[in-house]
Amino acid sequence: MFASFVVFFSLAVVTAFSQGVPRTQAFVSARGDTVKMAVELPPLPYDYTALEPHIGKQTLEIHHDKHHAKYVTTTNAMTAGTELEGADVVTILRDAHGKNQGLFNNAAQSFNHAFYWECMKPDGGGKPSGALMAAIEKSFGSFDAFVEEFKVAGNTAFGSGWAWLVHTPSGLKVVKTIGADCPLTDEGSTPLLTMDVWEHAYYLNYQNMRATYIDAFVEKLVNWDFVAANFAKF
Ligand code: MN
Repeated sequence: MFASFVVFFSLAVVTAFSQGVPRTQAFVSARGDTVKMAVELPPLPYDYTALEPHIGKQTLEIHHDKHHAKYVTTTNAMTAGTELEGADVVTILRDAHGKNQGLFNNAAQSFNHAFYWECMKPDGGGKPSGALMAAIEKSFGSFDAFVEEFKVAGNTAFGSGWAWLVHTPSGLKVVKTIGADCPLTDEGSTPLLTMDVWEHAYYLNYQNMRATYIDAFVEKLVNWDFVAANFAKF
């Protein structure tokens, strides 16, 4: 009886979170914070071959089905039986930050990857438009200046890390993080775009040439519609 209730309750929570985050829509809530999403493995928003030739099928299979999946199962295993069991991923990573490095790493990587998949699409790249473009030009001087800063962030994240475009109260900023770190632990900093620069994101296609992967990400893959949907919440 009790077990049935727990299973039902867990499914209800997962379903509620899932319905709160429609695919291809913003990850930012009306309050300007990142939406609360369950710790689960979302399906890729496109086919495994959809990003070829820039990111190949085998990379997406391993990256999503193995790496991302492991972060999710590890997070859920680490929170099972604790007060964080069933909590949304942003709450977990913020709670664990600075006091439980293992849990933080896995929860942050669960979020980072769910966010990253949405940041790409087939035939992406190009430039944003409208209010987002105006904000980028205001914060960086020009779109090209943003691109340069974003590429430098990705190329200079030593070892494994991420490059981000974030919204802050003082404007848009480019941030690089190392390991699993993400901007959600910085007060008032909300991710709009991210790029995974861990070697597992690009090694099968590009080997050591991270800069070539980054060029392809920016010029051929960025889903500016997703970035704009996030920015539109502010
Ligand atoms: Mn990754």
